[in-house]
This record gives sequence, C-alpha cells and structure tokens, in this order.
Amino acid sequence: MMADAVLSVEDLIVQYDTASGPARAVDRVSFTLGQGERLGLIGESGSGKTTMGTALMRLTRAPGRIVGGRVMLGGTDIMALSQRDLRAVRLRDIAMIPQGAMSSLNPVLRIRVQIEDAIHAHEGRLPKPEMAARIATLLTRVGLDPVVADRFPHELSGGMKQRTVMAIATALSPKVIVADEPTSALDVVVQRQVMQTLGRLQSGLGAAVVLIGHDMGLIAQFADTVGVMYAGRLVEIGPVAQMIAAPRHPYTRLLIDSLPGIDAKRRLTGIPGLPPRLTDMPPGCAFAPRCPLATASCTASIPALQTVASGHRAACHLYPGLPALPPLTAKAAP
Ligand code: SF4
Repeated sequence: MMADAVLSVEDLIVQYDTASGPARAVDRVSFTLGQGERLGLIGESGSGKTTMGTALMRLTRAPGRIVGGRVMLGGTDIMALSQRDLRAVRLRDIAMIPQGAMSSLNPVLRIRVQIEDAIHAHEGRLPKPEMAARIATLLTRVGLDPVVADRFPHELSGGMKQRTVMAIATALSPKVIVADEPTSALDVVVQRQVMQTLGRLQSGLGAAVVLIGHDMGLIAQFADTVGVMYAGRLVEIGPVAQMIAAPRHPYTRLLIDSLPGIDAKRRLTGIPGLPPRLTDMPPGCAFAPRCPLATASCTASIPALQTVASGHRAACHLYPGLPALPPLTAKAAP
C-alpha cells in the first residue's frame, strides 16, 4: 500500500450466484489510489467495472455478493463496517456519481430538498440561510445557476441533471469519488463539459477519482492512471501516457487500435470474438481465445499481475520473458 494511499483495494472478489453456477464479476482485483489521483477503469460491457465501482461503496445487491478481499479507505476497512458506520462513511468519505442521473434523482422533489437531505443526514439541521448559501455554492461549483435549486429534475437537461448529481455527491467534500460512466447518454459536447466539470471538482477538492467507462479516449483525457479490466480481472494498470504509447497487454493494445486517431488515417480494427461467459471461463488466461499471441502455455495458468515497468503492471505470460509487447494484429473471429 503506497504511503499516502486514500483507497486500497486488496484481492476483491464479487460473485453472482446464477442458475448456471457462480460467476465472478470481480476476480481478485487489487489496486491503490493516492490522494488526488485520477484512475480510469476501462473494459467492455460485462468486464466487471461497474460491479467493481458499486463494491467499493459496499452497494453490491443480491444476487451479487462480495465474497473476499478488502477495501481500505485510509485506515478504515469498508467491508468490516456496521451498516450505521457505513452510512456515515458514504458521501462524507467516499461518494458515487452513478450512471443515469435521472434515475438517481427523486422526480417529485425539488433539487434543493434533495441536496438538503444529503447534508442533513450527516450534519443535522443547519440554519436556513446557511443551508441556502451552501446549496448555492455547491450548484455554482458544478457550473449551475443557483436557481436550479428550485427546479424539479424533469425541468433540467441531461447535462444539468448530471451536474446536479455531482453537486449532491460532492456536498460533503469526499476524499474519494467513484464516477460510473457519468457521461453515458449525453451528446459529445455535453460529455466534454461534464468531464471538465468533474476535473475541476476533483482538483478543487483534492479528491481521488475512480472513473469507470468504456471510452478509452475519454478516460485517457481525464485519468493519470488507467486500469483495464477483462472478464472480471484487472489485466493491466499503469500511467496513462505509458498505457497509450506502450501498452503491455495484447487486449489493451487492441482496445487502443480500435480508437480513431486525429494524426494519421488508418484502418480501425475491432476485437474479434466476445468476452467469455463468467460461468464458463476458459482455463488460464481469459483473453486467450481472442489473443493473437496466445500459446499453449497461456491456457495452463492464470497470469498474475506483474510489474513490467515503473508503476506499470500487466497480467500476461509474455512477461518477464519479453521486454515489450511485439506487434500484433487482431485474430480472426473463431
Ligand atoms: Fe495473450 Fe497469453 Fe498474454 Fe493471455 S497470457 S494476453 S493469451 S499472450
């Protein structure tokens, strides 16, 4: 655990009990987040990134269960807290900006009441003028006019609703913010504005952020560190510039190659095949059926996340044998 770590996740396992057997949506994931660090967690649908985000808040719902590991928030183990202590920690120390702002706002309550509820729950009743000033500050901080406090959610645009959710999530200046695809369902111009707002909020609060998403371009613009998830496992994590310029995991390379570039025209390549079913994982490396560099040894054991460069780890059997990832082209779909 790094000296100034605000969040330390150790061997976290989240499992869904399904009719076809247990499915590990998060499989022994570990990472550490320093104060003010921005971590982007990326992966295809079903890679476990959203399950990971909700588990960090201990918000996993049945049939999902956290079956192993620890989430340390400073010196506090979130997994060991009573429900009462957990309620005190949420929002004050760790807060979530969820997907789909509309479904996280109460449609029949004015925004003012919803922000007041969050503050009351932690700080008790404040004098009316103090509360009004606090709400105005929170709304202004996310780029909204304070008059928004007197509106209902349906009177706001998608971007305004998302900013309102950000204002509520950061009302108590948490040390860690988990933002789960905060720009999904927004158009690209509003996406950019919302991301800029999140960046300003993060810098102002000095909070660490876990940004969950599937858009490598958006994540790369925001994050200091990028983590790539595949089939519930963290397969690579490292500094953003290194991850883009010299990824070590074949899956990360193929994810980057599927992005359009602005400097040179090139053919975009998708990643053939589909991620495995979590109830029927292939032996060894879960990416082997889609990996152009797979060999027989890849199916023999699950590759451990190992250091491949300073602050950079990858879970691939190519290392430590190779100094870098060889060129690769996507494998044809099976
Ligand atoms: Fe590909 Fe093998 Fe590395 Fe998995 S362990 S990513 S199959 S080379």
